[in-house]
Amino acid sequence: MIYHPATCNPARSTAEQEFQTRRAQLIAELARSKLDALIVSFPANTRYLTGFTGSNALVLLWPGGAVLFTDPRYRIQASEETTCKVRVAKGPLFVPLMNAARRNKIRRLGFEGSRLSYETYQLLKENLPLGASLEPVAGLVEAQRMIKSGAEVSLLRRSALTNSEAFRRALAKVRPKMRESDLAAELEYQMRLLGADKPAFETIVTFGPRTALPHARAAANALANNQLLLVDVGASQDGYASDMTRMAFLGKPGGKVKRLYQAVLEAQLAAVSAVRQGVHAERVDRVARRVLRARKLEQAFVHSSGHGLGLEIHEPPRLGKGDKTVLQAGMVITIEPGAYIEGFGGVRIEDTVVVTSTGCEVLTPASKELLIL
Ligand code: ZN
Ligand code: ZN
Repeated sequence: MIYHPATCNPARSTAEQEFQTRRAQLIAELARSKLDALIVSFPANTRYLTGFTGSNALVLLWPGGAVLFTDPRYRIQASEETTCKVRVAKGPLFVPLMNAARRNKIRRLGFEGSRLSYETYQLLKENLPLGASLEPVAGLVEAQRMIKSGAEVSLLRRSALTNSEAFRRALAKVRPKMRESDLAAELEYQMRLLGADKPAFETIVTFGPRTALPHARAAANALANNQLLLVDVGASQDGYASDMTRMAFLGKPGGKVKRLYQAVLEAQLAAVSAVRQGVHAERVDRVARRVLRARKLEQAFVHSSGHGLGLEIHEPPRLGKGDKTVLQAGMVITIEPGAYIEGFGGVRIEDTVVVTSTGCEVLTPASKELLIL
């Protein structure tokens, strides 16, 4: 057992306090769920609880403590990234984890049911201490992660800033005959120069009629005059995702493009205005849909109006029909209505916002005017 005491570095001790608060909050939740302990295996969740960013980790969390299990490749990294108790082991990490559960007389042991493979589950069962039981839990850490702390909102704000600046710099390089994939590469290059770890998702860049494909992969087709450009891009910075969609036009847009753009912009602004603490997630979606219905574009709006984001690009809640999640201050969500017309093109406008008690704050600084190139 290797124990790394907190150092005197004030930044690190503040960060460690944040992780301790997260773990304490989850432990309080365990008691409500009648669990003695929780095994956390999903990487975004282990990172959220400990700060450790390695790819192989398990956390055992119970009222008496928390231990992070990882393999020898991550010994140094774990000591640098977390002051949580670390146990380095070779082979399947469930073996030392179950030994720790046995030593601490844990009986009702929760695990992330939707995150484990059947094979791993079998391994867990085989190593279960005598008299102990395995209880699947759904979304316990994810529910906590929905409400961002002040520190997390700062990280999301910075990620959104990086993303907007990368977009500004990349768009300045757009020329006729540029390929979608060239612009995607430029966006990703610029975000890395600005401090991003990587893109938060595969960058979407489409030109002309291909803008009607909401989630197309950037391809080799070249930009021509009088074409729409759709850019849906996100940075991952210190693990936190940003997500925005902006539109541009090469040349002078005609009436149909302008009307389509205006309709989606009005839907987006109406949805942003509908966001505040206490409102159901699906209500925000309804507001956006109502604006597009009035323009006879309801059938052209083929996805939900947004999603939560944080350590992952898609987190709960989902701003769509049937999601009754009550928005709470500190939730960070995207607002992204769109309308897509086959053979013509599509428009989507997307911001990242943080929910407040009176409304929301838009974290994406980029202008929402149709960019004329
Ligand atoms: Zn997006
Ligand atoms: Zn999105």
